[in-house]
Formats: sequence, C-alpha cells, structure tokens
Amino acid sequence: MQASRLISKLLLGLSLSALAGDTLQLHFIDVGQGDAELLVSPGGQAVLIDGGLPGSDKIVNPYLQSHGITRLDYYIVSHYHNDHIGCATKILSPNVVSGLQAAYDRGDTPTNTDSYAKAFAADYRTAVSGKRITATTSPSGAATSHGFVLDASSNQPVVIEFVAANGNGRITKSTTINENDFSVAFVVRFGQFSAVLGGDLSGSNGSDYDDIETSLASTFPGPVTLYKVHHHGSRYSSNTNWLAAINPIVGIICCGTRNNYGLPEDGALSRLADYKVDTYWTETGSKNADNLADVKGGVVLKSGSKPKVERLPDASKHQRVGGNIVVRVGPHSTTFDLVTDSPQTTNTYSLVKPKGDWGRLLSTPVGAPNEYVWSAVGVQYHVADCPKAALLSAKHRQQGSVPPQGMVPHSCVKPPA
Ligand SMILES: [Zn+2]
Ligand SMILES: [Zn+2]
Repeated sequence: MQASRLISKLLLGLSLSALAGDTLQLHFIDVGQGDAELLVSPGGQAVLIDGGLPGSDKIVNPYLQSHGITRLDYYIVSHYHNDHIGCATKILSPNVVSGLQAAYDRGDTPTNTDSYAKAFAADYRTAVSGKRITATTSPSGAATSHGFVLDASSNQPVVIEFVAANGNGRITKSTTINENDFSVAFVVRFGQFSAVLGGDLSGSNGSDYDDIETSLASTFPGPVTLYKVHHHGSRYSSNTNWLAAINPIVGIICCGTRNNYGLPEDGALSRLADYKVDTYWTETGSKNADNLADVKGGVVLKSGSKPKVERLPDASKHQRVGGNIVVRVGPHSTTFDLVTDSPQTTNTYSLVKPKGDWGRLLSTPVGAPNEYVWSAVGVQYHVADCPKAALLSAKHRQQGSVPPQGMVPHSCVKPPA
C-alpha cells in the first residue's frame, strides 16, 4: 500500500469515527483480496471478523486505531485460509488491542488437506490460546445459546447467532480439500436490521465443493438486510436457493483490484442482480481474460489463465466501488446508512425491501460538490482532478456531485493501487 493512500484512509477514518455514537456499525475494511470486518455495538463493544492476508495488519491496525478501537471484545474466524486469518496474530497482539473475551472459530476438526491454511491456523491457535470457543449451530436457527449478545443490558441488544460451521455436518466428500465449505456463518440482528456473514461458504457441488448454501437456505430465518457476499463473489457461491432465502437489500463484495482469481465473477454478479441486490465492492475486481481480446496500446494484457483485466462496476446493475464501507443503523431505526470513503458517499436505505424490487434508496448518492466530470457524449466519468477530465471538450463537459446514470467510472474513480 502506498503511503499516500494510507494517509488518506487514516484521515477518512477520522471523519468516519466522528460519525459514531449510539449506532450499530458494521465496517468492511478495504484489505484488497481478503476479508476484514469490524462490528461495533451502540454501547461500544467491538467484534473483529477475520483480518485479511499476511501484511493486512498494516491496514487493519491503523484503521482500528483511527476509530478509537483499543479493546476487542470478540474475534470471529470464518475459516483458516490466509486471506482471512493471514495477519490475525499481528492484529490480536497486546500492543494493538486488549480485552479479548473469546475467539469463535470452527474448531480443530475436521482437518483438510488444504496446505495453505495450516500454518496460519497454527499461529492463530497459539495467539488466542485459552480463549477459543468452537462455533456450534442450531438446526432450527433459533437458539441464542448458539451465539452471543452485545449490549446485553440495553433495551436493544445486538444478537449474534451462528448458522453454519463445518458444513453443519453436510459435507458429502469423503476427503474434502476445501476449507471454504467449513466456513462459520452467522447472523447479526439489531432491531429491524440484520446481516449474514459467512466467509467463503460454498454453494456449488463439484469435485472440490459441497453446496452448503442450499442446505442452509432451507432453514434460514431470513430475509436479511445485508449479505457479505460469500467467497469474494466467486462462481461457486451465492446460488439462487441461498439468495431467495436471504433476499438482501445490499451485498458487500470484499475483493482486490486485479486480483488473480477473476473475482467477482460474471455468474455470481448476474445472480445478485437477478435478486435485485445493490452491491458495494471494496475495490474494483478482475475478470478472466480468457476469450477476451483485451489489448491496450498494442499490449495484450492476458497472460496464461490468470485474470489481468480490471473489472469495473456496472452502475446499471447497482454495482458500486467504495473502498472502506461502513453500514450504520440507529436503535429502533427504519433506515440504515451506507457510507463509503473512496469515493466519499452516504446512501440511506429503507430497511424494508419491496418484493421483487431493488432496495429503496431514500437519498441520492452524494459526493463532494462537482466531484465528478464527464462528457455528455461519452461513456466514462472521472473525478474532477483526473488529467483525462481536463481533455474533455468544453462543449460537452458536464459535472456534478453525483455519478451520471449509465456511465462507468474511469480508473481515476477507484482507490489508487
Ligand atoms: Zn477461503
Ligand atoms: Zn477468501
């Protein structure tokens, strides 16, 4: 990460923290490819979920600091892949946070043959020794004993309930090599607001995968307000049974610009759009260059089977890139705010999703005054200080605080790589 980006994120972090107080906050920290989420209750209790790849502590720790988080009450590990717990030991260091009461994870069995999960899992186990609790689930999804409560003495506590762990015993492969199938999933409830987060949980049957999403959908106590899109928008997750059961208003996709995996993937994005889910991405993703003649300046960007082409969001499908993404909801509220820092926007939604429609945006997304510049006859829009914006003809030049409908953002609009 470049220093300039880090500094801008710290400054933005300060502005976000100034908005805090008496609200539930769910932060999706932009760690690129990987997951790092922070839940802060109205009463100030904090839960960290995952943390990202090795090295992401250089993003997460300053983020926690800038939000005044010096105490973590709980830690939840979705599964043992390195893009989730690769820096857990460096975040959980006593120099960074104190006060950890419990760390919930999927336990030590089943094991799998997924070698790149093992070293990080071992380090994590050492770091939280004596505080680990194996997440267990209730088949009916009803018992609060299968989770924990924040702000227990308040008149609107935050309830966290585990709904999946180790595939809920439904792994059919005799030897699964897929750590993703074992992901811990949980629901957060706060008044009318609810969210489901489940790491890289699978929704596909194949040689490597078991479809856990469908088995979970049959008993899922949905719908929910927010879905942390499984597996960074992978083709193997977010199947239609699952989306029908949870019917979320917004989906958060944690992905890295030009990641090596082609995430988020076309099929998953189409299914999310079919279910009218507004998606917010931490960064632009990548798409597989296979079968694409992607040539810029005479250079073929495609290399082998690795995706090299940047995937930009499609505004017509309610896709947006946001950097760090924070969802805020007040006690007894009928709305929630979704705040992004790159670009800076605040969108307010109704907590009720009309049947078969997109979630109801109660406010127009607002950026800084005249933040965006575009040509009336173009297809891309720019931030005002983009060098390309200066080249637009005066005759067609337009500007405003809101991105133009139906246009795609130029690369200047995303966080710098
Ligand atoms: Zn994974
Ligand atoms: Zn992952």
